[in-house]
Amino acid sequence: MKGKINQWNDEKGFGFIVSDDDATKVFFHISSLKTSSRRPQVGDSVVYESTVDAKQRLQAKAVVIIQASTQRESQQIQVTPPQKNALDYFLILILLGCLGKISWDFYQTQLLTETMAPFAIAAVVAFLILNRQKTPKEKQFSCARCKAVANFDARTIQAWNNGFLKLYCNPCHQRWLRENPTHPIRSYGVGRGSGCLVLLCVFSTMPVLAAVAVYLWMT
Ligand SMILES: [Zn+2]
Repeated sequence: MKGKINQWNDEKGFGFIVSDDDATKVFFHISSLKTSSRRPQVGDSVVYESTVDAKQRLQAKAVVIIQASTQRESQQIQVTPPQKNALDYFLILILLGCLGKISWDFYQTQLLTETMAPFAIAAVVAFLILNRQKTPKEKQFSCARCKAVANFDARTIQAWNNGFLKLYCNPCHQRWLRENPTHPIRSYGVGRGSGCLVLLCVFSTMPVLAAVAVYLWMT
């Protein structure tokens, strides 16, 4: 029989074929794939043998990809990087304001007093909220290696939050881990996007605060 793959879960290794003749939906597992240079994708044309499993459900056997999906190129999903919204800018303002207030008070009194505590707490809270995990607008991404469309999961959302826009599907990620067992952290990708503005702010304030403290201590 001939059909087209219309659903494919690459992570779990199964999907559905819709028959060209009568549009019946047939389940198939990766183990039923006879020969293929690559993993199945939505849109691939296939030939298969329709069988019935123990629970009387249609299942495809001896699946052969006869024509690769033409959607491959056009389906490339451009993932947008994490965006800052009004809340983020507001939090950055609070963070910088609080740090400024603490530094100013410290400069004036040369003491760390408990009146600084609310500002320090506010700064920490603002920092934590700023670094909250965001969810990508896109539900899926194109794997940077095999170009397959994959769903976002905890690992890829984490990588995306860390500024990586080159994301890898799970099979590619697993393969990468096998090939590079000593550097698991770099498997997120190589193309790091823009750095984190907030971290930059915090880290650039640290030397200033330290310099002020040293200056006060010296004089
Ligand atoms: Zn991949």
